[in-house]
Amino acid sequence: MDRRLLAIHAHPDDESSKGAGTVIHYSDLGARCTLMVATGGEEGDILNPAMDRPEVVENLAAIRHQELEAAAAILGYSKIYRLGYRDSGMPDSEANQRLDAFTNAEEESVLDAMVAVIRRERPQVMLGYDDHEYYPHPDHIRVHDLALKAFWAAADQERFPDGGPAWAPARLYAPVFSRRRLETLHQAMLDRDLESPLARWLDRIPEGEDSPVDVRVPIESTLSRARDALRAHATQVDPDGFWFQIPEAVVVDAYPWEDFHLLASRDGGGEHPHDLFGGI
Ligand SMILES: [Zn+2]
Repeated sequence: MDRRLLAIHAHPDDESSKGAGTVIHYSDLGARCTLMVATGGEEGDILNPAMDRPEVVENLAAIRHQELEAAAAILGYSKIYRLGYRDSGMPDSEANQRLDAFTNAEEESVLDAMVAVIRRERPQVMLGYDDHEYYPHPDHIRVHDLALKAFWAAADQERFPDGGPAWAPARLYAPVFSRRRLETLHQAMLDRDLESPLARWLDRIPEGEDSPVDVRVPIESTLSRARDALRAHATQVDPDGFWFQIPEAVVVDAYPWEDFHLLASRDGGGEHPHDLFGGI
């Protein structure tokens, strides 16, 4: 089968921290993987001390543009569609009030752009976001909402009639950080007498709550490249920081999967525990 996957993300670097190993997995299998990114990430803080220099701060938008290109090449994306909105920053910030911020963009015009890409790429599988209850960045919440709306609108020729022939993607999944995954990795670190970076993250999730997981994609053979892609976002990611504190060998040993929740589908998704395309 001619597999096509379209991932929708809010900022450059999100594509390398959410579902990155999965995109490499499908790219390795010959799928065409394409990336839509809503904003340029202009509000990102420089989180890598080595990159916190005046010339980097002044050219952050251009540098993040290049970082995304480098990361996308590692992940195996064939094409990047940049919607060109400005990073909205956090609620109540100055960036959040700007007219060019993604959060203030008119819904119909964002959907118009998203639907045009979906109809052009004709993906069977789309990746969006869950409702981001625990990380309420306005751009992430908007990707959750609009990816879902675009998933349905792309198939309706009466909506956005100039955006190309209607296309009905089969499934929309969200990468999720399930409690089960976080707890398993956390425990694996403690079992090895290593300090776990996940304690604070786990504290934010109320006891007994977990994200539903419908598919777990194997990332054993892709994890190290996914980490290289994240490192390519050199301004945004501290190479000694959070994302790299769990050794690859521990992940491979304890939980070599990325978890996905089926947000919407036209076929019910079926029982395919390790394949987003299973049964399509
Ligand atoms: Zn983001």
